[in-house]
Amino acid sequence: MTPAGLPTVEAPCFLCGAAEADALWATPDRAFAVPGVYTVARCRRCGFLYQRPRVRDDRLADCYPDHYPRHQEPSPRIPFKGSPARVRAVRRALASRLGYASLAEPHPALLTRLRARLLHRRLRWDCPPWRGRGRYLDVGCGSGGALGVAAALGWDVAGVEVDEAAAKKARRFSERVHAGDLLGAPFGAGEFDVITAFHVLEHVPDPVAAVRRMLEWLASDGLLIVEVPNAGGLGARLFGRAWSGLELPRHLSHFTPASLERVAGQAGGRVVWCWHQAKPRYYLWSLGFWLRDHRLVRLARLAEWRPVYGVLKLFLELTLPVARWARRGEVIRVGIGKSGAPRPQ
Ligand SMILES: [Zn+2]
Repeated sequence: MTPAGLPTVEAPCFLCGAAEADALWATPDRAFAVPGVYTVARCRRCGFLYQRPRVRDDRLADCYPDHYPRHQEPSPRIPFKGSPARVRAVRRALASRLGYASLAEPHPALLTRLRARLLHRRLRWDCPPWRGRGRYLDVGCGSGGALGVAAALGWDVAGVEVDEAAAKKARRFSERVHAGDLLGAPFGAGEFDVITAFHVLEHVPDPVAAVRRMLEWLASDGLLIVEVPNAGGLGARLFGRAWSGLELPRHLSHFTPASLERVAGQAGGRVVWCWHQAKPRYYLWSLGFWLRDHRLVRLARLAEWRPVYGVLKLFLELTLPVARWARRGEVIRVGIGKSGAPRPQ
């Protein structure tokens, strides 16, 4: 017997429109206890994983309780901090590897160059690569963490945020923050050189329309950067319905690198690169859910006990580079450029 949940509809596959799908995983809301049990189905025609039946559009807002964090990452990581030597290395990394030509200095010391090389691996996740005239839009900007970083790097920034209170906070970085749905945002064609959408696509009812709209706003040589949980990663494979990336009922789509590539293609873009990220906490959340699902509550509590959690986390820190290397990460981030004329859907 399932508790009464939000009203749902039997919608067809978001990607290919096929009506037939097979139920794969069913779970309650593990993070925010929205009532009900929700199901992920696999499209029989194209294999896409999506929520089905899906929470009705007019009730989607009810998937997000008031205490839902409008931010995935705790605080903006402003790059220019620390010792003068570190700042020099950051500037070097930005100039030599991320296209910030204005930060280039003529003869950096060997140590600065080496340090820049190491710093780049983390910086590239926080700092958008420089493009064109430096016009940046963050879709799903929350209270503006990414906008703060981009503004500090010299970008002219704008945002879109569905939550009015978060949008208000984001306006400390820019007047141009649209509060509301991304499809209704009032930006013009070709207005931005880089657009980011971190953990947005899995929440929207029509991911192809969302990407198409963002590509419209992009300059012809601009870059759209999209990040989503990876349903093709090791965590989904190992933990199945206990995989922490499911986040039902808030996640409507569950992308793999291949299905995200199809979304980009159907929207008139093409994926130019794909990075994998794997953080210990994602696996540890999944492990906790899995143990509870198997009625191993004591073991789940043991795994959450600080000393044990610490050891598990350390073990994962050491082994996770393998998941990234094998391209089976928990999160994928892709760069999408415009391809010529959009293909008909
Ligand atoms: Zn399909």
